[in-house]
Amino acid sequence: MVQKMELPLQEVLKRFTTLDEKITHFNSIIGLIDWDQKVMAPKKGRYVFAKAAGSLRTEVFKLSVSEEMGELLALLTKEEYQQELNQVTRAKVREYKTFYDKSKRIPAELFQEYSVLTGQANDAWEEARATNDFERFLPYLEKIVTYTRKFAEIYGYEDHPYDALLDEYEPGLTVKVLDPLFAKLRKASVDLLKRIQQDGKPTRSEIFEKTYPINKQQEFNRYILPLIGFDIDAGRLDETIHPFAQAVTIGDVRLTTRYLENNVRSALFGTIHEAGHGIYEQQINPDFEESVLQSGASFGIHESQSRFLENMIGRSKEFWSYFYPALQETFPEQLENVALTDFYRAVNTVEPSMIRVEADELTYNLHIMLRYEIEKGLIAGEIEAKDLPEIWNKKMQDYLGVMPATDSEGVLQDVHWSFGGIGYFPSYALGNLYAAQILRTIQKALPDFAALIEKGEFKQIQGWLKEHIHQYGKLYTPNELIVKVTGEELNADYLVEYLEKKYTEVYEL
Ligand SMILES: [Zn+2]
Repeated sequence: MVQKMELPLQEVLKRFTTLDEKITHFNSIIGLIDWDQKVMAPKKGRYVFAKAAGSLRTEVFKLSVSEEMGELLALLTKEEYQQELNQVTRAKVREYKTFYDKSKRIPAELFQEYSVLTGQANDAWEEARATNDFERFLPYLEKIVTYTRKFAEIYGYEDHPYDALLDEYEPGLTVKVLDPLFAKLRKASVDLLKRIQQDGKPTRSEIFEKTYPINKQQEFNRYILPLIGFDIDAGRLDETIHPFAQAVTIGDVRLTTRYLENNVRSALFGTIHEAGHGIYEQQINPDFEESVLQSGASFGIHESQSRFLENMIGRSKEFWSYFYPALQETFPEQLENVALTDFYRAVNTVEPSMIRVEADELTYNLHIMLRYEIEKGLIAGEIEAKDLPEIWNKKMQDYLGVMPATDSEGVLQDVHWSFGGIGYFPSYALGNLYAAQILRTIQKALPDFAALIEKGEFKQIQGWLKEHIHQYGKLYTPNELIVKVTGEELNADYLVEYLEKKYTEVYEL
C-alpha cells in the first residue's frame, strides 16, 4: 500500500501565507476601487469600475473556496498541525475556515439566484423609497426573507435561526445573549426619554442651523482630525454624500465626511466618527498587514471605536472646553453669543426623529432595537413582510413617541434589507454597548482620562486603545476581545449608567 506523503508543516504554511496574501491584496484593491468609485471617478466611468470590482470579488471568492484552500485548511486544522501553530496563524486559519465551511454549504445555484435577487431588490427598494410605495419592494423583501431563512438553516444554529445571521457580523453572538441586553437598554432608554421630554431643560440646538460657510467647516475639520489621533500621513479626508471609512492597508486609511452649510454638526461629528474607525485600522499591528487579520475584530467592535471617539470623547464637556475656543474663532458671528455650556448641551440634544441616521445618542439604540425585533420575527416566521409598515409604525410610537407620515421615512428608509443584510443592524447598538464598557475600563486605567481630553492630549488615550484593542486586528473574536479588555462579558449596565449620568446632567433632570 502506498501511503500519501504528508506535506511538511513549513511547506503548508508557506502556501497558506501566499494564498492569504493574494486574497488580502485583492481585497485591498477592491477597497481602493470602491473608494474611487464613490469619491473620485467621473460619473461616466463608474459603471466599468463597478464591474471591475465585481470581477475581482468573484476571484476572491473563488480563491477562498478553492481546492487549494480546502486542502490547506484540512491540513492546518489537523490536531498534530494545530499544536504546532502559533496564535496568529491559528486566528488566520479560523477566519478562512469559517468562510470556507459556510460557503461550501451553499449550493452554487442558490447563491447565484440570490445574487440576482439582491441586485433587483436594490433597484426596487430605491424606486419604492423614492415613490413611497412599499408594495413595490414587498415581493423582493419576501423573497429575501425566504432565502435568508434557507441560509440560516444551511449555516446551522443551536437555538434561534437568527443566530446564524448574527454570526456573520458578530461572530459568536446569539439571540439568547442579545435579548436581555437589549431589553434592559430599551426600558432604560424609553424611561429616560420620557423624563427628558417631561422635565428636561430645553437645549439650544437651533444654533447649529445657522449658516456655516463650508470652507470654514473644512478648515476646522482638517484642524481637529490629526489632533484627535488620526495619522494624516497614513490616510486622507474627502467628501461624499454618505460618509465612510475605507481602509486600503494599515498605512492608507481613507475617510470621507459631508459638509452641509446649515448644519455644522453633520460634518463635525461625521468626521470624528469616521476618524474612530480610521484610527483603529491605522493602529493595527503592522505584522498583520497583507493578511486576513489586517482589520477590526467585528462590525460591533469597529463601531465601538467610532462611537467612543464621536460620543464618549467628542460629545463630552472636556472635549469642547478644549476645542470650543477654536470653533468660536472659526465661526465668530455664528457662535459669539453661545456659551460653552450651551454649546455642550446643544451637541447632546435628544430629539426623537423618524430617521435612524439622524438620531441622537440616546434614541439611536431604539431605532436599532425596533429593526432587530422585526428581523428576528421575520426569520422565525412570526412576522410577515406584508405587515411591516404597520408593525414599524406601532413600534416607533411605542419606543420613540413619533409616527412616520410615510413609509419612505419609515420602513423603507434603510438600504440594508435590499442587499440581504439581515443581522447587520444590531452591530450599531453593540458598538454603543461595547464603547460604554470600554469607557469604564479606560477611566480606571487612566485616572486622568477626563483631564487629558480637557488638555487636548489624545496620545495617551489613543495609545491605550492601541495597546488593548487596535493592535490585535482580527486576532481575537469579539467576545474574547471584550473580556480581555474589560475583564467581563458584554454588559448593558455600563451604557445605561452612562446615558443616565450624561442626560441627567445635560437636561438638568
Ligand atoms: Zn460607523
